Amino acid sequence: DLADVAAPVAMAIVAAGAAGLPRTPGLPDEVFVHDGQITKSPIRALTLSALAPRPGETLWDIGAGSGSISVEWCLAGGNAFAIEARADRAENIRSNAAAFGVAHRLTVVTQEAPAALEKLPSPDAVFVGGGGGQSLIDTLWSTIPAGSRLVVNAVTLETEALLLLEQKRRGGDLLRIELSRETPLGKMRSWVPSRPVVQWNVVR
Ligand code: SAH
Repeated sequence: DLADVAAPVAMAIVAAGAAGLPRTPGLPDEVFVHDGQITKSPIRALTLSALAPRPGETLWDIGAGSGSISVEWCLAGGNAFAIEARADRAENIRSNAAAFGVAHRLTVVTQEAPAALEKLPSPDAVFVGGGGGQSLIDTLWSTIPAGSRLVVNAVTLETEALLLLEQKRRGGDLLRIELSRETPLGKMRSWVPSRPVVQWNVVR
């Protein structure tokens, strides 16, 4: 029931010693049910900033994983379609939507993109967090309305190479995100870098 699904959220609030959830995106990873495939908090904050949600707008979250991007979009007042090929992850998305009280505005589509996109209402913004190949980008470019925002995150060299070409061809901004976290090294401390993420942000 709702008490069970909301438990991780409640625990994280208590752990933070705070009275409630902050209004800003980039919530702790621990408040979401996930299997490791989740856009990590600082990258998620930058991704939501690029997606720029306005109340009432519609997001397509392609390769939604845990649904963390969709949930934070809905918390900003939007409606989201979370497209996820794997059934176990689709279940996580449903749990997260319920826990955050946004299930009425978050629709889970358990199917592969681009086939999954055919019957969806047109988006104001699209995020590609998985399955971002040439054919998906081409399909999106010919499908989404003029003025809609497209944000694609690349972790692999192959997807990065595609984004470098797409930005040259279609415009928009490229942002390379490289973050390091302080970690103990014996009695001292050291920076452990995370994998760089290249983010393409373009208005159709
Ligand atoms: N942004 C997500 C993490 C995405 S991980 C989060 O914050 O939780 C990428 C996801 O894309 C994986 O769950 C994978 O199953 C999914 N995926 C990959 N190719 C896909 C496709 N063609 N259609 C739908 N989902 C896809």
